[in-house]
Amino acid sequence: MSKVLLHDKYFQPYIAAAEIQQRIQEIAAEIDKDYAGLDPLFIGILNGSFVFAADLFRAVTIKAEISFIKLASYRGTSSTGNIITAIGLEDNLHDRHIIILEDIVDTGRTLFSFLPVIEQQSPASVRIAAFLSKPDARQHEVPLAYTGFEIPDKFVVGYGLDYDKLGRNLPELYILAD
Ligand code: 5GP
Repeated sequence: MSKVLLHDKYFQPYIAAAEIQQRIQEIAAEIDKDYAGLDPLFIGILNGSFVFAADLFRAVTIKAEISFIKLASYRGTSSTGNIITAIGLEDNLHDRHIIILEDIVDTGRTLFSFLPVIEQQSPASVRIAAFLSKPDARQHEVPLAYTGFEIPDKFVVGYGLDYDKLGRNLPELYILAD
């Protein structure tokens, strides 16, 4: 594997496709064990999680459902702070076991704002599965039940993640070259 050029930046190979697939199998096995008989509902956050969601969901063998949402965030008043709207979120989460699928948790701001929106519907449980986590960049505490890989605070692309719309179709993960 060699460097790729996306727009004006070079990215170098970071995590190979086979290693990613191996980790997906491990997480799926954990979910199979933790959620047997609970009929969990996966909620994938678009756009970035679509590849992770597709691979993880197909690796899970228990009875399960999946749906996707898109998050739009805008600045509210000083009292409301950051407001997040979930486009496509269904109103049938009551008493369901929810597994949120996110591509990467960076500062944690997105999920920190979104979790209360889910909690409003009184689900039976909510857990997060993140393909990637950047612990060094965290500004908001977000509990991650399942994490694919912890990575340094550097920009990555591939496996669903983009740099200004490009790179999502790369089957492996690439990191910004020095
Ligand atoms: P947070 O709200 O946790 O700071 O950011 C989460 C979102 O920021 C992710 O869903 C993703 O869209 C974007 N993001 C954060 N770090 C990266 C990265 O290294 N690469 C790409 N492509 N997106 C990132």
